[in-house]
Formats: sequence, C-alpha cells, structure tokens
Amino acid sequence: MSKPHIIIIGSGWAGFYLADYLSPTLYTVTIISPRRTSAYTPLLASAACGLFNFYLAEEPIRSKSRKCRFLKATVTTISFPTKTIHCAPAFDDDSDPITNQPFDLQYDYLILAPGCIPNTFGTPGVLDHALFMKNVSDAMATRKRLFDLLEKASLPTCPPARKAELLHIAIVGGGPTGVEITAELDDLAHRELMDLYPDVAPYLHISIYDVAPHILGNYERKLHEYANEKLVRRHVAVETNTRIEKVDREALYVKGKGRVPYGMLMWVTGNKATDLVMEMRDVRKSEKGLVRVLTDRHLRVFKSSGTTEADDEVWDDVFALGDSADIVGASLPTTAEVAVQKAKFLVNFFNSRKEEATFEGKKAMPFTYAEKQLVSYIGSRDGIIAGRGDREGWTGRSAWLAWRSGSVMWTRSWRNRIVILLTWILNWVFGKEIAKM
Ligand SMILES: Cc1cc2nc3c(=O)[nH]c(=O)nc-3n(C[C@H](O)[C@H](O)[C@H](O)COP(=O)(O)OP(=O)(O)OC[C@H]3O[C@@H](n4cnc5c(N)ncnc54)[C@H](O)[C@@H]3O)c2cc1C
Repeated sequence: MSKPHIIIIGSGWAGFYLADYLSPTLYTVTIISPRRTSAYTPLLASAACGLFNFYLAEEPIRSKSRKCRFLKATVTTISFPTKTIHCAPAFDDDSDPITNQPFDLQYDYLILAPGCIPNTFGTPGVLDHALFMKNVSDAMATRKRLFDLLEKASLPTCPPARKAELLHIAIVGGGPTGVEITAELDDLAHRELMDLYPDVAPYLHISIYDVAPHILGNYERKLHEYANEKLVRRHVAVETNTRIEKVDREALYVKGKGRVPYGMLMWVTGNKATDLVMEMRDVRKSEKGLVRVLTDRHLRVFKSSGTTEADDEVWDDVFALGDSADIVGASLPTTAEVAVQKAKFLVNFFNSRKEEATFEGKKAMPFTYAEKQLVSYIGSRDGIIAGRGDREGWTGRSAWLAWRSGSVMWTRSWRNRIVILLTWILNWVFGKEIAKM
C-alpha cells in the first residue's frame, strides 16, 4: 500500500521541524520552499555582528539523515477541494523554459507554514533602501553594509560631517529584534571597531525609531524603562512616538522633524501575511491586525464557508501553524517558540497513528501552549527577563547569561552548539574576529 503523502509549505521553524520528525516509514513527506535552508532567526543579529560564523545560523533542508523530498519552489495557489497545490520554481535565473515550468502536486495531507513577510506599512522607499533581518542573506548584507560604511568613512576624502552621516545606523522598530540588533551593533562599536577603525568608530551612532510610546512594549513597565535608560546612557537615540513618513537612498523623513541622513537603515517593524495567505479564498482568516489562517485547537484549518467551530467546518486534511496561523479564540504570538510547540503537536499526532491519520477531533487532546519567559539582550552584557505569575522580572548580567545560554539551544545540531560555545569562549578571551569573517 502506498504511504499517504504529506506536503509541507515552508521551511522555517515550523516546516523544518515537521520535515525533521515526521515518520518516513509512515509517510512520504515533501517540503516546498523558495529557500534551501532554515534560519535560526534568534541567532541572526549575533551572526551579523560577528559573534559566530553565518553557517551556524541556518540549517540546510537536505541532509543525509532527513528522509523527505525537498522542492525549491513557491506555492502560488491551492485548490482545497481537489487536494492540489500549484507551484512555481524559485530561482533568480528563471530564463530556462524547462526548469521554469510551473507544476502541480497532489496531497493527502497539507501543512501550511509559509510564515510572514516584513511589514513596511506601505512606507515609500522602504522596500528599495532598507535592510531586513529574516534570514542569513539579510544578516550577511547587514555585515557587508556596515563594513562598506566604515571603509568609506575612513577615506581621506570623507569630511567629518559626512562620516557622521554615513555612520548613522537607523533601526526602525523597537521590539525585541530591533533592540537586539542595536545591542549587538553597539557592543561591536565600543569594542572591536574601536581597535579596527580607531579614527571613525567614534562617529558611529545608533537611533531606534518606534511609533509606540515605549520600546520593548511587551515587557512590564519597570523592564522597558530600564532598557530605555541603559540604551540612552550608551548614547543610543531612542525616538519613540515617532513615525517615519518616507525613505530615500540617503535619508529618512521623520514626521515633525524632517530629513535625517543615515548610512544603514534596518526595518524591523513586524509582520504581514504572505501573498499565498492573502490569495487563499477557501479558508477562514483573522480579520483584525495581521491576517492569519484560522485553525481549531487541533490546528485543522477552518473552511471560509462556515462561521462556527464545529468539526464539519474544517478541512480535516489541512493543518496550519507558525506565524501564518492562529487558533480561534486562543491567539498566540508570532514566535519560534509557538511554531515549534505546534509542530511537535502535529508530529505526535501524525506519528502516533496506526493506519490512517483520520483526526478524531473530539477524542484527541487539543494543543496547549506552554508559555516561556520573554528574554531580551540590551547590550553591554545586560538583559531583561519578563516576570511570570508571582515571579517578578529581572535584569542584569544573569539575565544576559540566561539569554546567551538560551540562544545556543535554538540550534538543533549538537555540532553547531559546541562550535557556538567554543566561539563564544574564544571571543571572550581574544575578542571577535569580525574582520576575518
Ligand atoms: C531576527 C529575528 C529574531 C527572532 N527571535 C526570536 C526569538 O528569540 N524567539 C522566538 O520565539 N521567536 C523569534 N523570532 C520569531 C520567529 O523567527 C518566527 O516566529 C518563526 O520564524 C516563525 O516560523 P514559521 O515556520 O511560521 O515561519 P518562517 O520561519 O518565517 O518560515 C516560513 C517559510 O515559508 C517559506 N514560504 C513563504 N511563502 C511560501 C510559499 N508561497 N511557498 C513555499 N514556501 C513559502 C519561506 O521562504 C520560509 O522558508 C525572531 C524572528 C526574527 C526575524
């Protein structure tokens, strides 16, 4: 008897976990993604700032031990009634008429995990001029831009005023990602860059912009105020209640303030739905805020035709998880933690079946989220950890150490963990080898 075919859309935190753990004995598994690798997103800012080599911040989908089929393509549309997905090969060079042909695949079970894309809120110029931080190529582009700017500012033709403009790093978005990038860049500026570029490193200055009244608004007041104060003390300009109206190649235009020149602009303001999610007509989606596919507590996708949460209103062969999906009535944040916990839930469901993965929704245990504490790095070996229950949040070096040791656990390969740990120890003793990386 042929094995049921599971198609996974997306090779991010959710898709990659599923591809790793779904039983190849029970299923034929195909994973489809335009990317050959899966990024360990929490490690990207550190990799961009030379804490360790880029290859440690991602994992290839193809490996000796992973028995799934990978296709480098984008899913363009899905026909749920006929269980067919339509795909387009995803290559930069798309001139070959044979390898560029679209193709269709049939599934028995479909798992939607296409994640989200950066939200520019339609701000003119952002897509053309800003850097993002979603995968390793973004981290590489960030490092390259930083070094290009430092070299330009070091040229004898560059006057002091221009050095200051070139070495203005503007970070738009004061959430955990924006603050972590700021922290890592600021550490770099005060340590390694002082040795490598003693003449121009003092010109490097960072601004964080956010429309919200606080940075790190997900943390309790005491903690986000602490982070703000520490950053300001290190001369980071924290510009809250600030809207960026447009961006061009050399400057941002701040509402009420006007033109502010920058050398590097990082845009980390949050997520929006992918084209695929926007295109899907047959599934129910959230209506407020980020558009996400709605599922029941067993992660089965609701049909667009229904309005209740009854069992007969789901596509019982289609599941969704990760940033692109949310559970009706139990909304969870867009984090790797949630994506992986949901992926584990689906792996248990699929791998524990005996003959056929029919979902006896009423009998099966629903998904429950085990909440983890929020942790952020704020630079200079200082961090914040949110409180939980009766336990208050805390700050300082122990919070930084908790963040650092937590971040090594994001990579699933023991080999990578050991290399990361060794690199940290070497960085601690001898400083980062950023100029060589
Ligand atoms: C810099 C950074 C730091 C972060 N730090 C943390 C952290 O410390 N802790 C935490 O819990 N979370 C963190 N997150 C959030 C976390 O990365 C996301 O929640 C997580 O990536 C979501 O996983 P996902 O599988 O849903 O989507 P993604 O990881 O975004 O993967 C989606 C995949 O789908 C593919 N895809 C998209 N469209 C299609 C299509 N049409 N066809 C086929 N494939 C498609 C994409 O190419 C990609 O491979 C961080 C995010 C960033 C950017």
